[in-house]
Amino acid sequence: MIIILLLSPIYSLVASEGPEWDLTPLYPSKKAWLEAIDTAKKDHKALSACQKILTKDAMSLKKCLSGFSDLRKEISRMWVWASLQASSDSQNHEYTEQLQLVANLSRKITSDLAYVNPAISQLPEEKLEEFLKQETSLDDYKQVLRDIRIQAKHILSPKEEALISNYLPLASGSSRIFRMLMASDIEFPTVVLSDGSKIVVDNTGYEKGRQLENREDRVKVFEAFFSLLNQYESTFGLSLYQSVQSRTTLAKVRNYPNALSSALGNTQLPEKVYRNLVEQVESNLSILHRYLKLRKKKMGLKNLEYHDLYTELHGTEKKFDIKTSRDDLLEAVKPLGEGYKKELAYATKQKWMDIYPRKGKRSGAFASGGAYEVHPYVLLNHLDDYNSVSTYAHEWGHAMHSVLSNKNQPYQDSRYATFVAETAAIVNEVLLLEHNLKNAESDEEKLFFLDYGLNMLRITFFRQAQFAEFELKLHEMVESGKPLSGQTISNVYGSILERYYGHKEDVVNINPRYHLEWAYVPHFYFGFYVYTYSTSIAASYNFAAKILSGDKQALTAYLNLLKAGGSKYPHELFLDAGLDMTKPSAYQPMFERANEYLESMEKLLDKIERTKG
Ligand SMILES: [Zn+2]
Repeated sequence: MIIILLLSPIYSLVASEGPEWDLTPLYPSKKAWLEAIDTAKKDHKALSACQKILTKDAMSLKKCLSGFSDLRKEISRMWVWASLQASSDSQNHEYTEQLQLVANLSRKITSDLAYVNPAISQLPEEKLEEFLKQETSLDDYKQVLRDIRIQAKHILSPKEEALISNYLPLASGSSRIFRMLMASDIEFPTVVLSDGSKIVVDNTGYEKGRQLENREDRVKVFEAFFSLLNQYESTFGLSLYQSVQSRTTLAKVRNYPNALSSALGNTQLPEKVYRNLVEQVESNLSILHRYLKLRKKKMGLKNLEYHDLYTELHGTEKKFDIKTSRDDLLEAVKPLGEGYKKELAYATKQKWMDIYPRKGKRSGAFASGGAYEVHPYVLLNHLDDYNSVSTYAHEWGHAMHSVLSNKNQPYQDSRYATFVAETAAIVNEVLLLEHNLKNAESDEEKLFFLDYGLNMLRITFFRQAQFAEFELKLHEMVESGKPLSGQTISNVYGSILERYYGHKEDVVNINPRYHLEWAYVPHFYFGFYVYTYSTSIAASYNFAAKILSGDKQALTAYLNLLKAGGSKYPHELFLDAGLDMTKPSAYQPMFERANEYLESMEKLLDKIERTKG
């Protein structure tokens, strides 16, 4: 592998004219991309013969499966090309049309291949065993075949499936109504701040407003936002109730014991993983309370209110430009071994990344690993602050996961589940934080990093777990036949919120108006999704603790987890890597580290106070 040691010119750019990545390894031109689409259409047509011969004999099965896989691989590459272009300039209509073109093709292929899974699931067990013996190259499709057969238990007759697919758009209607309400129908209030500036308190305005330095301004923002939500409590309630109801109904129709097991079913994650998360958080809320008490002390407040939780406690003057970000991350991942570090050093020198914000470019950050035979791409909106470096570490964690998985797995097993994906990304964030904590140059700097870590736990772990518990409770209420009105949902949310924030223990005072917070969170319409943030951060601390202690066996197991891609279900991959997320012990390393952060922070704050006094 070539490692270029000189700095490439991309690092001298600050505000770029166009995207910094090079998409020609995907397709040298639009013409080439269009030709690839035509080829895919022809390949798809050629595969129509499979409808007759798919399960005829071992050789036919292998040929067809490999044909489907090649076709999906090509579609995925086309999708990556089109979606990267679209995210680099959202106002370009040509890019939007390109995306639609590939999306339409993909939909057509999926619908034409609808016969595949039922045909494979109907193949008698002995016959499939025989095929696998006769044709050893079918081994590469073992997980694909296994998954099809496992999922088959929840696939109904073609007639029933057709009914369901007609009904599905209606079932997702509530989330569309919710989005419409939030995006265009509701008129959000404008608030005048103490410096005379104005802020529209919609979702974005609210999230910005809660970070404001001035407490009175924050109160104004909260008052405006929650009074508005309050006017629509019944509508939001009905909309969320319908969303929950459609999930519980569909789960029943598909022979799942409940909506939770249905949501976890596509990756065969045991329900115990989810329930264990809820239980572990429940018995460790004292950690969150201890942190919030520190915040109260630092802010010098008599009462800590719910609108006091998002202001920056400990800032840093330090700038983290893209070169510093790269250098820091390369140092931080040293415990992952020379191989990982070299690979990352090489990857971050290539034109795989679009770094800086630009007009028309999409916000946020992502890594895209879908171009199997090419390489991953990373989109950032780097702002030279620590949050940007942490995001850099996170996205490169995803990208490196793709590099390792694509190198070690056939295409069909290279795509990994979110449950594993987020862990690969957060491990890098944790390693970066630990590296910075170890090398902090002053007490203030150390405080900044400690607070960053604790705040990350508050937002990524505790808050998402709180959401997860809320979602579970709503679904269980509907499953036991209870109706949900907006008011009932607020009561459920409010009681969980008060418990999490220690309302009764005077940790944070929760104004009952904020019991309506659920109403603006779009994630609740996705159904059992946010828990992966919490489980992943716990898993990441688990792996990071072992790796940082120099446990070679644990390091190998972790790297094997990344290399394994999607060759098994995520819970199986975690078990292979020595981590059982159904056990309370899975959460111990994170809670222990959090307590250590808190202890250091308390000591440092006392020390600073003493010096001042
Ligand atoms: Zn991520």
